[in-house]
Amino acid sequence: MSDIILLKQGEIVLKGLNKRSFEMKLISNVKRRLKPFGDFKVYALQSTVYVEPQNDDCDMDGAFEAVQTVFGIASVSRAACCEKDKDAIFETAKEYLRDAMMCARSFKVESKRSDKRFPMTSIQLSQYVGGLLAEEFPDVKVDVHNPELTIHLEVRDYAAYVHGPNIEGAGGMPVGANGRVVSLLSGGIDSPVSTYLAAKRGVQIIPVHFFSFPYTSEQAKEKVLELAGILTKYCGRLMVEIVPFTHIQEEIRDKCPEEYFTVIMRRFMMRISQRIADLNGCSAMVTGENLGQVASQTLEAMYVTEVCARLPIIRPLICHDKKEIVEIARKIGTFETSILPYEDCCTVFTPKHPRTKPRLDDVIEAEKPLDIDALVEEAVANIERVAIQ
Ligand code: ATP
Ligand code: MG
Repeated sequence: MSDIILLKQGEIVLKGLNKRSFEMKLISNVKRRLKPFGDFKVYALQSTVYVEPQNDDCDMDGAFEAVQTVFGIASVSRAACCEKDKDAIFETAKEYLRDAMMCARSFKVESKRSDKRFPMTSIQLSQYVGGLLAEEFPDVKVDVHNPELTIHLEVRDYAAYVHGPNIEGAGGMPVGANGRVVSLLSGGIDSPVSTYLAAKRGVQIIPVHFFSFPYTSEQAKEKVLELAGILTKYCGRLMVEIVPFTHIQEEIRDKCPEEYFTVIMRRFMMRISQRIADLNGCSAMVTGENLGQVASQTLEAMYVTEVCARLPIIRPLICHDKKEIVEIARKIGTFETSILPYEDCCTVFTPKHPRTKPRLDDVIEAEKPLDIDALVEEAVANIERVAIQ
């Protein structure tokens, strides 16, 4: 009996003319994600993506787990494939779902028939197969309203499929379908979550990290790369841009009033991210900022920071509570790494009394002693790129 994986497409099905290009993106993302698990044929028909193993060496369990984190998929299921014949469908259901039937107290059969030439209606097929299964497993009651186990039968163009419950997919839209963004990735809890949420809406991510060696350690950088590694599960391959930030921070420390350190530093992050965005054809920048969380995340401070950027800044977490952010971080598996106690460049030279409501004119005045263009050029010229598979 051949076992395949069925992926129900999510929001893509709502797309009109663009649907095919979204679908192609999804298929290529699924193929890339399945590479470590063997040779699979992946194709789309009727809003479903089919994942067919090409030989017995394929790791179906691994593949099934991997597709659950691919964006653009509403639900996933493993299914057995059989001939489009009512008895073949019953035999397949009986064998393929034997374990599930033995554990359930009640069941029902639900059928879908996209091949309208099939000689039975969906209801007739459900009744036929349901009846035989009830005889085969007399301890399991039929319950059409509240069954413990729902058995799905699908009669499609090329074959019939039998599967148990659908598992929720990762949702969202296929990565790459909505363009490209830079995402400012620190080692904290928030920015891995904001990066994940942006990727979920179908954007390809270029992570940017500002690194202040030796004020922040090699381990702090490793931590960010580890977080990027966790995110590849959702975002696909990543090329992390590590920006040397030490000289800029020292210049700010030496030449600017202390109360403006953080906001001036963040303005540099924006200018450099903007440059990286331009170099990579990105149309927006993503941060993990959250209204009111720290002194640099007041509305006034965010305004003074964002005027340095030309592109829109997306802040997926702006209105989330910390508790909600932590929940997502746990769900996506970044939380435990994020809480490792390595410092971030934002905690280097932190002012004792930062301006929580900075005025733009004052900040511009405060950064006058700096050669801004030269500092930005120097940082951009010395970016280190690390590929994460
Ligand atoms: P996080 O939990 O993401 O570190 P945070 O609560 O510590 O955020 P800030 O330090 O004010 O908040 O940083 C706000 C945002 O600025 C971060 O979410 C991230 O997008 C970006 N950022 C901060 N530090 C860095 C860094 N070293 N490299 C890249 N981006 C950074
Ligand atoms: Mg932080």
